[in-house]
Amino acid sequence: MKIAIIIVAAGRGARVGGDLPKQYRKLGQKSVISVCLSKFEAFDDLIIVINPSDRTFFDEATKDRARTYRIIAGGQTRTESVRAGLTALAASPPDYVLIHDGARPCISNTVINDVIAGLSKAKAAVPALPIVDAVKTLDAQGVDRDKLRRVQTPQGFHFTDIFAAYEALPAGESFVDDIEMARRAGLSIIFTKGDPDNIKVTYAKDFELAEHILGMDKKDMISVTGQGFDVHRLIEAPHMWLCGVKIEGTLGLLGHSDADVGLHSLTDAILGALALGDIGDHFPPSDERWSGASSDLFLKHALSLAAERGAKLVHIDITLICERPKVKPHREAMRARLSELTGLPLSHISVKATTTEGLGFTGRAEGVACQACASLRVPVEP
Ligand code: MG
Repeated sequence: MKIAIIIVAAGRGARVGGDLPKQYRKLGQKSVISVCLSKFEAFDDLIIVINPSDRTFFDEATKDRARTYRIIAGGQTRTESVRAGLTALAASPPDYVLIHDGARPCISNTVINDVIAGLSKAKAAVPALPIVDAVKTLDAQGVDRDKLRRVQTPQGFHFTDIFAAYEALPAGESFVDDIEMARRAGLSIIFTKGDPDNIKVTYAKDFELAEHILGMDKKDMISVTGQGFDVHRLIEAPHMWLCGVKIEGTLGLLGHSDADVGLHSLTDAILGALALGDIGDHFPPSDERWSGASSDLFLKHALSLAAERGAKLVHIDITLICERPKVKPHREAMRARLSELTGLPLSHISVKATTTEGLGFTGRAEGVACQACASLRVPVEP
């Protein structure tokens, strides 16, 4: 089965604004036409119909494409342009021809393959979508929406039939698309499944939408690890906060806020991954507002800064270094609380503890130290 493609790109796209025709404008780092051509890379027999005066635009817009293309000069109307494309194919006629708008760069393989499959059942196959909105006219009783379809491209045809239809068309007559031509010629037509993402870039805003559909607005993400370290002095007190958990007893931690050494080091680890300074920059100990503050607040602030950046916390690993309190009885409660605070599953929350074998300030139980690592997925900044 020989299948040829005609990409119609001869229009001037006045509705988009500016001098450069829309098919040559940028989508991300590429042009609309280049992205469109990339979707038909599997087809060898491919013709592009352009406005002859746009040749420089075309060459510039497709210089990232590895292959060279058969370029045909279009006519004054879309109909003339398609006729020129079909005529160029006629010397070595394919079985099927798919005619596609150069301004539909979001076309998927599924839509293309469905059209080709549809041609085994009818002489013409057209991707179509139902209409969701109510359709009205002011001069009639109403329109039966269920019978209406929005049609897209590529529109597929048995080559001999569509070529004959175009050949028979009197000069000067024109149609908005090829399915109208098929209808006029009495060809059997089948609707195949269209795709809402297969948009025709028409207005300036459509470029943003196309970039979104094509995933071009997504930045590359990299994995980053930040680390944090903190120490607070152990004192006698009825309770202490450690990794967001209240531990009742006779020990407390001394600090301006609730002195949760676990959450402080974790907050610093996240700020470190974002390269946004340390907890003291964001919550100065001199500021009375943070006196006795729950350290949840600091962690939530760091997480909101991550969200603003488009970054995502993916894993935390905390090591508490102390002789007292004994961490193990509280470890699962700490992991559960950290899961609540961060939204991470338990499988990505590690809380470990160690002593320093009686050595140093932790060994003498004068204080609790904590090390934290935070792994984040962070968008690459330009
Ligand atoms: Mg601290």
